Amino acid sequence: MKLERVLQFAKTLIEKTVVPGDIVVDATLGNGHDTLFLANLVGDEGKVYGFDIQEQAVLNSQARLEEHHVVHRAVLFQEGHEKLQQFIPLFEHGKIKAAIFNLGYLPGSDKAIVTKPDTTILAIEQLLNMMTPEAIIVLVIYHGHPEGAIEKDQLMEYVKQLDQKEARVLLYQFLNQQNDPPFIVAIEKN
Ligand code: SAM
Repeated sequence: MKLERVLQFAKTLIEKTVVPGDIVVDATLGNGHDTLFLANLVGDEGKVYGFDIQEQAVLNSQARLEEHHVVHRAVLFQEGHEKLQQFIPLFEHGKIKAAIFNLGYLPGSDKAIVTKPDTTILAIEQLLNMMTPEAIIVLVIYHGHPEGAIEKDQLMEYVKQLDQKEARVLLYQFLNQQNDPPFIVAIEKN
């Protein structure tokens, strides 16, 4: 058996949860790789709501979706994910099936623009209110840079205290690798 690598495992979790027609969230658009992955899963009847604070990230993601002829499956906002409850239309609240956060900074871009624990946690709390039972939030946590290490500590503290009646929290991490590779925390709403 070959253990699934971290980034592949994030996709597997989402693939096992999302079916055509679902409503999902890409909380950190970046270059739109995850957005495209999600758009392919939800099909023409579903919708991906995407967020990033950088204009370039929104433009890059839009271009990637256009290139693959699935741009109509997504609605992208140049807004922080901590505002997702405000920006995702009311009629979708309660219907969200999955969300992915690829934390940290956008490779090849300004490394000073990073996700922050406070806003990440606000977004998770909003999602937990807006998701269906058995929906999943996948956090890919990059802790090899200074802000990432701080974000990791605060996020771990936060997810560990989530009430087990509300959600189950999974950690997927290789423990003996150099250079602090990313790991996954997945939150399944009960
Ligand atoms: N998923 C992306 C992809 O497939 O290319 C990579 C995401 S990158 C590691 C992290 C992104 O989070 C950056 O583009 C950054 O601008 C964005 N970001 C930082 N703070 C944010 C916030 N509060 N809300 C939404 N996005 C944010």
